[in-house]
Amino acid sequence: MAEIGFIGLGNMGGPMAANLRAAGHAVRGFDVVSEACAAAEAAGIRIANDVAAAMAGAEIVITMLPAGADVLGVFRGAPGGALWIDCSTIDVASARELEDAARATGARAIDAPVSGGVAGARAGTLTFMVGGEAEAFNQARPVLASMGKRIVHCGGPGAGQAAKLCNNLILGISMIGVAEAFVLAERLGLAAEALFEVVSSSSGQCWAVTNYCPVPGLVPASPANHGFKPGFATKLMLKDLRLAAGAAAETGAASRLGAEAVAMFGQFAEGGHGDEDFSAIINFVRELPGG
Ligand code: NAD
Repeated sequence: MAEIGFIGLGNMGGPMAANLRAAGHAVRGFDVVSEACAAAEAAGIRIANDVAAAMAGAEIVITMLPAGADVLGVFRGAPGGALWIDCSTIDVASARELEDAARATGARAIDAPVSGGVAGARAGTLTFMVGGEAEAFNQARPVLASMGKRIVHCGGPGAGQAAKLCNNLILGISMIGVAEAFVLAERLGLAAEALFEVVSSSSGQCWAVTNYCPVPGLVPASPANHGFKPGFATKLMLKDLRLAAGAAAETGAASRLGAEAVAMFGQFAEGGHGDEDFSAIINFVRELPGG
């Protein structure tokens, strides 16, 4: 069992740290928000006074933070020797910078962003997409297994973030496509139930239809059944699509639909819907002028 410092005890980090603790690891946590610390403490996590105290003596440091600048800021003060596992969703360049910074101090680092949301974090069923050297991956694997079900080594430094961004680029665009199709069906007088039955066993089939259909009453777990309570909030989808757009710009990859998805989710979030599930984009599509 490992000595683990856990930085960022928010919606995802809190339950992830609790699962590490439940698996028998010694976890010391820290968050800048005292409510997050209190919730983690109630779940049995020892709370440190600051980042440095959470990391002191840790064999493994895990971060679950909002953005690349937060992660690099935390790691700048980290002691050498530890294995650094960043589970946040951040830009690929920062993930690579982190791994370079780790190497320079004789430590190891991997990027290990997750899929599965808050429900997956609580249930310990997250999917980890890992980038980094094989040795660091092998060292991290048993720890990740205490928080998730699937652990995929995607390649070298930054490959985990790359996989996460590409996956969510597909998801954001496909949800808009599904929303457009169901709104078009409404206008054509085609029942949503009939469209769902056809599409779920035809070539239009995709995760956004069969697991997360944005029309209520068709898929048991869909947020559409509960007034679009997330699930995966629009503001988080927008964050990931912006990271994908940034990566496309940096590498010269074409991503016209990605840019359009950023614009649409951006307008929807600015209209006060950032905390609704991203599948609520169907309501935005329904209100758009046609033609
Ligand atoms: P969150 O805002 O609930 O948690 C982030 C926490 O980090 C906050 O509690 C904040 O106070 C803390 N924090 C920020 N800077 C800090 C610092 N310097 N030191 C200590 N604590 C600091 O966000 P979340 O939903 O838990 O998401 C965390 C990461 O996971 C993000 O990168 C997000 O994109 C990614 N993610 C989230 C989901 C989801 O469904 N929520 C799914 C997959 C990935």
